[in-house]
Amino acid sequence: MVEAVGVRKTFGDLEVLRGIDMTVATGQVVCVVGPSGSGKSTFLRCINHLEEPQAGRIRVDGELIGYEEVGGRLRVLPEARLCRQRQSIGMVFQRFHLFPHRSAVENVMEGPVTVKGRRRERAREEALALLDRVGLADRAHHYPAQLSGGQQQRVAIARALAMAPKLMLFDEPTSALDPELVGEVLQVIKDLAADGMTMIVVTHEMGFAREVGDHLVFMDDGVIVEQGPPRDVLRSPRHDRTRAFLSKVL
Ligand code: ATP
Ligand code: MG
Repeated sequence: MVEAVGVRKTFGDLEVLRGIDMTVATGQVVCVVGPSGSGKSTFLRCINHLEEPQAGRIRVDGELIGYEEVGGRLRVLPEARLCRQRQSIGMVFQRFHLFPHRSAVENVMEGPVTVKGRRRERAREEALALLDRVGLADRAHHYPAQLSGGQQQRVAIARALAMAPKLMLFDEPTSALDPELVGEVLQVIKDLAADGMTMIVVTHEMGFAREVGDHLVFMDDGVIVEQGPPRDVLRSPRHDRTRAFLSKVL
């Protein structure tokens, strides 16, 4: 589903990604961990071309992201096609970014109505079903300010799902939450995994990575230092840098 090869990204003189290769099979959950500043968010943002990498290629479901090949050369995709690619990749951030003046159900139906041209009634029905799926059927008409952080994040997940993505990217989805609200959001992500959604999850929740992740990637300083089955990487890391990081977070 995802195939990233040699992804490099620099900001000015700062090399943030120094050749990232990653493969994610359909239905797989890859968890990405690593210290602050190691490039985790930048890599996720490259996958849906919110950042333009300086080098490397990323394919999602076989489709080259951000470019088209014309006569053996790469050409930047026209904006409309880039938008269509982005629609097939759901992204959930640490902060929920809901529209504050719209209710939960209106937040979820916004994308399908404005971007996909869905009829409002149909979009509303689908949005209600998605809110039910994330356990918020009884909060559909609440505004973000009337919802807890965990509930807002679940609305954000429903909103991403409303676009029927092939792939979901999560960037520390529980880092901004009070500890007692983390579990309900992780449970929703776990349910998605059980339903076969392909996901890349940047997280500091090692228990979640061990339980739900098919694969664990440890990034540091713009490279993948170590990767493998979560259990193995967490139990017996092979690199000093991984050990040092895990000793701080476990
Ligand atoms: P965290 O765990 O704190 O979220 P991260 O692993 O997600 O960290 P990134 O956000 O990808 O790290 O940032 C990697 C490096 O790139 C950092 O040094 C950051 O300051 C730098 N960086 C990120 N975005 C930009 C930008 N738009 N312009 C300049 N530097 C940037
Ligand atoms: Mg980050």
